[in-house]
Amino acid sequence: MPDTLPPTENKTAQHTPRPLAGRAAIVTGSTSGIGLAIARGLAAGGAGLLLNGFGDASEIETLRAGISDEHEVDVLYSAADMTRPEEIAGMIEAAEAHFGKVDILVNNAGIQHVAPLEDFPAEKWDAILAIDLSSAFHTTRGVLAGMKKRRWGRIVNIASAHGLVGSPFKSAYVAAKHGIVGLTKVTALEAAEFEVTCNAICPGYVWTPLVEKQIGEQAVAHSISREKVVQDVILAPQPNKRFVTVEEISALVAYLCSPPAQSITGAALAIDGGWTAH
Ligand code: NAD
Repeated sequence: MPDTLPPTENKTAQHTPRPLAGRAAIVTGSTSGIGLAIARGLAAGGAGLLLNGFGDASEIETLRAGISDEHEVDVLYSAADMTRPEEIAGMIEAAEAHFGKVDILVNNAGIQHVAPLEDFPAEKWDAILAIDLSSAFHTTRGVLAGMKKRRWGRIVNIASAHGLVGSPFKSAYVAAKHGIVGLTKVTALEAAEFEVTCNAICPGYVWTPLVEKQIGEQAVAHSISREKVVQDVILAPQPNKRFVTVEEISALVAYLCSPPAQSITGAALAIDGGWTAH
């Protein structure tokens, strides 16, 4: 038996699995919240990445460079506005010019507006339908031919529990999210023979800037504390009484991009603490 041990290996650097090495991903709305966590998860798996979304230019550059350095992958950024089909086409062209392809598309960009139907502003309806639903049509039609040709692709649409059930005062959001569940099914059926999968993820409430805004508005509207809004309003339909975390959603996206998920397609996967089991 040798009396000295061999040098200790750096197991983190050498043995971290990189199942997505060589893949190229676009995540829309990835400068914040759920999209940012998904982008980080895909980069950790080794995928090159295109980030998209709004925000302060220098903060976005810090994010972009930080993800690239941490995970040693190329990370691009596109400021494409998801309400503008021509900018969406430009974003896909930029990813294809750099990576030569798009293997993974996560349609995540989304906004919300809460108001009774009779008072719902028409421009908010148009914006929600454009960003939360139509953008996914434009991105999907832009990348699908290439995925089919290469016989590999993963499309993940971030829907919502509101893609499966309704709630009052969220007409546009519920309509858009039900719509994206339908688009998911059609995409899955058209792509199935080509080893391209398409699934929708339907989260319950996740504590992100999108929900933070609702907490503040509800506290004012009902004259109650933020804590009471969280417990009695926001988490009321969520039986486990806790927020879904962005890391839980990111892990589900990573799983859907992994080989054991090859047969999961056309699904609307609830990750909602039991909300839609009611
Ligand atoms: P968020 O506000 O933190 O992030 C939204 C992202 O979309 C940001 O990067 C923003 O810049 C981007 N975006 C907004 N408008 C855009 C546009 N016109 N063009 C390009 N990018 C745009 O919100 P989030 O909570 O992380 O939501 C992400 C997705 O998850 C949305 O589709 C949302 O509907 C869905 N979702 C959220 C929750 C929740 O509780 N937070 C629950 C279910 C589903």
